[in-house]
Amino acid sequence: MITRVKGTQDFLDLDLLTFLADTTFAQCELYQFKRIETPIIEHTELFKRSLGLQTDVVSKEMFTIKSHDQEQNPADEICLRPEATASLVRAFVENGIDQVPWKVFTYGPMFRYERPQKGRYRQFHQVSMEIIGATSQAHDVELLLMLDRLFSDKFKLVNYALHINFLGCQEDRKKYREILYAFLKKHQDELDGLCKDRMEKNIMRVFDCKNQQCQEIYNKAPKITDYLCSECAGQWQAVQNQLSLLSVNFSVEPKLVRGLDYYSKTVFEFVSPDLGAQSAFAGGGRYDQLVSHLGGRQDQPSVGAAIGVERLLLLLETVKANLPLPQAKAVRVIIPMGQAQQTLALLLADELRAQDMSVDVLLDGSFKHMMKKANKLGASHAILIGQDEQDAREVTVKNMVTGAQERIAQTALAGYFKK
Ligand code: AMP
Repeated sequence: MITRVKGTQDFLDLDLLTFLADTTFAQCELYQFKRIETPIIEHTELFKRSLGLQTDVVSKEMFTIKSHDQEQNPADEICLRPEATASLVRAFVENGIDQVPWKVFTYGPMFRYERPQKGRYRQFHQVSMEIIGATSQAHDVELLLMLDRLFSDKFKLVNYALHINFLGCQEDRKKYREILYAFLKKHQDELDGLCKDRMEKNIMRVFDCKNQQCQEIYNKAPKITDYLCSECAGQWQAVQNQLSLLSVNFSVEPKLVRGLDYYSKTVFEFVSPDLGAQSAFAGGGRYDQLVSHLGGRQDQPSVGAAIGVERLLLLLETVKANLPLPQAKAVRVIIPMGQAQQTLALLLADELRAQDMSVDVLLDGSFKHMMKKANKLGASHAILIGQDEQDAREVTVKNMVTGAQERIAQTALAGYFKK
C-alpha cells in the first residue's frame, strides 16, 4: 500500500470544515475584506527575503522543488509556500495596487517541513487576512475585533485567550536587542545551546525556547514595551485602550515575539489550552516595512493575521453541538429491482435532479442488499421499481422511517417529494 505523505491528512467528511470556511469567509466579507488567490508555488527568494534567513521556516522547513528553470538559473528556485503574507504582499506590489487600504483574504494549503504531531502538519491550511496600507493602529484593533467576534460569537468558543505584545519600530528593536543582549550575557552559562546560538543570530527568538530553565531567566528579562519611543508607546497604549473599550479580552505577553523577521509593533496570538502543546490557532501582527522591502515604491504600513484551520477545526469539534451546522439534505434512493428497470431508474433520477432534488440510484447486488444499503445511507425514502410498477407506469415509494408504502404514478414523483 502506498500511504499518504507524512504530516498530511485526508479529509473524508467536510461538513465541519465547510462550515468553518463559509463562516470565516462571511465574517471577512462583513468587515469588507475581498477574497483573492495567489499561486501555491512561489520563488524561494520571496520567503528568504521577507521571513528572514535565520527563521526556522526558511532555514529548516521549506519544501523546495527541483525545476528545469533552476538548472539554468539557480536564482529561479521555487518552493511550496509556507505562509501567505509574503505572497499577498508580492501580489500587491506586482499588480501595482494603488487603492489602500487593500483588505484581502485568502484560503489554502501551506507547507512546512516540521515534525508532525497533534495540530502540527506538513501540509496545513490557513485563512490569511491582510490590510495593506493601514497606517493607524486602529486597523490592528479592528482586525483583532473581527477575529475575536468570529471565535466567540460565530464559533461559540469560550476556552481561549488573546495574547498581545508590541515590538516597537526598527529603532526601538535595535535598542532593545542591545539591552537584551547585555542581560543575556550575564546569564550565558545558564542558557542551553540553541538559546546561545539564537542570542547571536536572532536574539528575540530566545523567548520561543521550550526549556524551563531558560524560561525562568526570560521571565526576569527586560521587556521591550518598557523601551518604546514616545510615538510607539502612545500607539501601544491606544491599542490596549481601544481593545478594552470594544470588550475584546486580552493579556499582555512580553515574551511573545513571533518567529518572523517582518513583524513590527503589534503582534498577537489566539491560544487555547484545549489544543495541547500546539496551542496557537491564529496569529499575526503588523509589518510596516515589508512592502518596500519587496520592491514597493513606498512603505505601506500593514497588518495581517492567519487562522490555522486544522487547529480551529479541533476546537470546533469540542463545541459542535452548539453550532448552527446546516441540516443534512434528505437522502432518497431509487432501487430498480432487476436489470430491465435500470434505464427507467436513471430516467426518473434525471427528472428529479433536474428539479434540484438529490437522489441516488442503487444499481448493484440483490434487492435485499440494496435495501440494506439504503438503510446504511440513512435514506428517508426508497423508490422501488419492479416489473409490475414499470408496466403500470408507477413506482412504490417506501418511507424508510415508518415502513409505510404507497404506489404513485411516475409522472407524480417530483410533485410528491416537493410537498
Ligand atoms: P504562522 O504563520 O506561523 O503565524 O501560523 C499561523 C497559524 O497557523 C498558527 O497559529 C497555527 O494555528 C497554524 N499553523 C502554523 N504552522 C502549522 C502547522 N505546521 N500545522 C498546522 N497548523 C499550523
